[in-house]
Order: sequence, then structure tokens, then C-alpha cells
Amino acid sequence: MKLLDEIIEYNQQFIEEKKYEEFTTTKFPQKKAVILSCMDTRLVELLPRAMNMKNGDIKIVKSAGALVSHPFGSIMRSILVAVYELNADEVYVIGHHDCGMSKIDSQTLLNKAVERGIPEKRIEVLEYSGIDFKQWLKSFSSVEESVKDSVSVVKNHPLLPSDVPVHGLVIDPGTGKLDLVVNGYEEK
Ligand SMILES: [Zn+2]
Repeated sequence: MKLLDEIIEYNQQFIEEKKYEEFTTTKFPQKKAVILSCMDTRLVELLPRAMNMKNGDIKIVKSAGALVSHPFGSIMRSILVAVYELNADEVYVIGHHDCGMSKIDSQTLLNKAVERGIPEKRIEVLEYSGIDFKQWLKSFSSVEESVKDSVSVVKNHPLLPSDVPVHGLVIDPGTGKLDLVVNGYEEK
């Protein structure tokens, strides 16, 4: 059975057995915080558990590497919506050790795209029209520095209220141990 079919089949049973009842909550985060973290599979359940967060406690925005690559992109928009519309009063940027994004090489990724059938010509056209793949697909060598950069983009955003603390942390994807990189309460 293909994954989509498995999901649909399981979902019918989930609804019938009312398994959703234990997750019932509102769209407003009870702990009044928004987290930006990485899409890493090891963090799906580990990150909220390691922070004592359950359904309804927080907003979580995810991007590869917990990066905010553009101050007016969709990640920053999500954070601002969480702050203004959904009562999040704090922002947590949480990177992690052994992040796949730290090993990304733009040329290798584009080579794989060509192998998967994307015409080289198309990539050239995108480059000519101003897409800087090196910048767009850039990796990082230090997760701590990368977290500090993301914190800085969020904290210095012209639309972020100055009383919103922006914290930076690094999580161990094996144990869930958190290390503090930026204490947003002290940076105000
Ligand atoms: Zn990652």
C-alpha cells in the first residue's frame, strides 16, 4: 500500500475512534511563544517534549536549518502573524547539531536536479534572470553562528515590536539537550 493510501485509511479510523479528543485546544498558544526550528525528522516529537510543550502551547514555524533567509519571506511573515494575531510574546530560534543544511552544497544540489530531469538550460535561465543559487542554497559551518544570524534578522526586523524577546538555542537531536546561545531577555 502506498503512503498516501495508508494515511487516508488510518485517518478514517482516527476520526471514528475520536482520537483527536486528546489534542483539542485553540489556535492561541497558551505559553505565548513562537518557535522557529529545523524540519529535521529527529525533532518532530523530541523538540516539544524536551521543552515540555504540548499541543496548544506554542506555534512552531519550520524551515531547513531554522534559517530566515529573507526578512520579507514567508518565515518572517509567519513569525509576525504569530506575534500580532496569535498572541505570541516571545520568539525562540532553535537550531540543532548535525543539521543537513550545514552540509548543503548548491552545485551538488543543482547537479542532482539535472540528474532528476531538470534541464540544465532552465537552471542557466534562472541564473541569468538573477537567481543567486549560491546565496539561496548557502549552508553554514557553525550552528551557533547561524542561530545568532537568524536571531539578528528577527530581532532587527522593522516590524517586530521592540518588547518581544528573541532567544537563540541549539538542540542536540539525539538527547534533546538545549544550549542557550542568545538570551533574549538580556538583549532588550
Ligand atoms: Zn536541520
